[in-house]
Amino acid sequence: KFLFKNVKKLPSDALFAIKARLAVDTRSAKVDLGIGAYRDNNGKPWILPSVKRAEEIIKADPEYNHEYLNISGLEVLRKNAARIIFGDSFDLANRVVNIQSLSGTGALHVGAKLMQVLNLNERDIYFSDPTWGNHYQIFQKSGFSNTKTYPYWDAASKKLNLTGFLNTIKSAVTGSIFVLHPCAHNPTGLDPTQEQWKVILEAIKEKQHLVLFDSAYQGFATGSLSKDAYSIRLAITDILKDVPVLVCQSFAKNVGMYGERVGCFHVVLPETGYNAEDKDAIQSQLNAITRSELSTPPAYGAKIVATILSSDELYKAWSDDMITMSSRIYEMRHKLVAKLVELKTPGTWDHITTQVGMFSYTGLTEEQVARMEKEHAVYLASSGRASIAGLNDGNVEHVAYAIDEVVR
Ligand code: PLP
Repeated sequence: KFLFKNVKKLPSDALFAIKARLAVDTRSAKVDLGIGAYRDNNGKPWILPSVKRAEEIIKADPEYNHEYLNISGLEVLRKNAARIIFGDSFDLANRVVNIQSLSGTGALHVGAKLMQVLNLNERDIYFSDPTWGNHYQIFQKSGFSNTKTYPYWDAASKKLNLTGFLNTIKSAVTGSIFVLHPCAHNPTGLDPTQEQWKVILEAIKEKQHLVLFDSAYQGFATGSLSKDAYSIRLAITDILKDVPVLVCQSFAKNVGMYGERVGCFHVVLPETGYNAEDKDAIQSQLNAITRSELSTPPAYGAKIVATILSSDELYKAWSDDMITMSSRIYEMRHKLVAKLVELKTPGTWDHITTQVGMFSYTGLTEEQVARMEKEHAVYLASSGRASIAGLNDGNVEHVAYAIDEVVR
């Protein structure tokens, strides 16, 4: 008998299934608002000018090679990655233990594995409702069987359900794990205000929950790295400074390095209460996870990002690139809404302009989304999440007409 006879067929990943349907759609007006990847105003992938420049610099180096990195990754990347997320003035040398990861997903995986090593996988882990779908399986596959949700999006008001969020923080078992999106929440594009972050983090502190920040869009919410790291910095320098905080960092979106898989996983140590041996022990666990799974992390993308982060000139160019991306998305939100208003499309649409980052949670129902695809060749997630980066001057009106038709 075939050894793999009873292998259970799993459903395909919803977003990659959209990508596959789109690829075979022959309609010329097709629009991809599915996967969260930036597109330029011609609907094409955009290699950031800062990335192109960094590639030239790397390749011109006579020492350029394809040797293995260390197990923990490229030192310059790790140091500068921590600097941009935690800030120049943070005590990086003492309070950060980190490792290069396979982008944000790999960082989440290392975080999950580390918690499994520490038996924290037996605790309840809370994700926002809704969240990035992959969160569940990343943690479930590392032995977290108690995955739960905290209320986040209030469908009726299209606003944050702060009361529900706080009630769940308060009623969760002490010492649960809370996965937070520090900015540009996926899928809703809705972030807590600075005041709301204070209340959320205070409530978390009160119940001694462990926080894991999943930072996949730093720079995408406001165009500013420091503004987009507000919640993380508030936690580590103030409200949660007496406990460890975990941070997953992706360079997929903000440097446009999607397929190169560049990221870091950080353990931010409390201000006091640990010593050098504790730090070494944590680093050794992170290294052991990586050694057994990747051996060493990939070098090429890491070198590009490290070159950008460690050069004043390229850092400046990259900051401009982030503004280019975030302002084009901002402009598209406004163009879409202006057209919907002009068409007198039933419903309110201002949430599309108040939401931030790559996505808009449009409020379209599953049936309406299906009709958008079938009748208008406009592809988005069945939850109604649209990747606004897929809009451009050439298709925004078509998308507005499609929305108008399906909601009437
Ligand atoms: N976390 C969130 C919330 C995301 O939206 C994504 C990507 O869509 C990721 C993590 C991981 O992305 P990557 O592994 O490409 O860095």
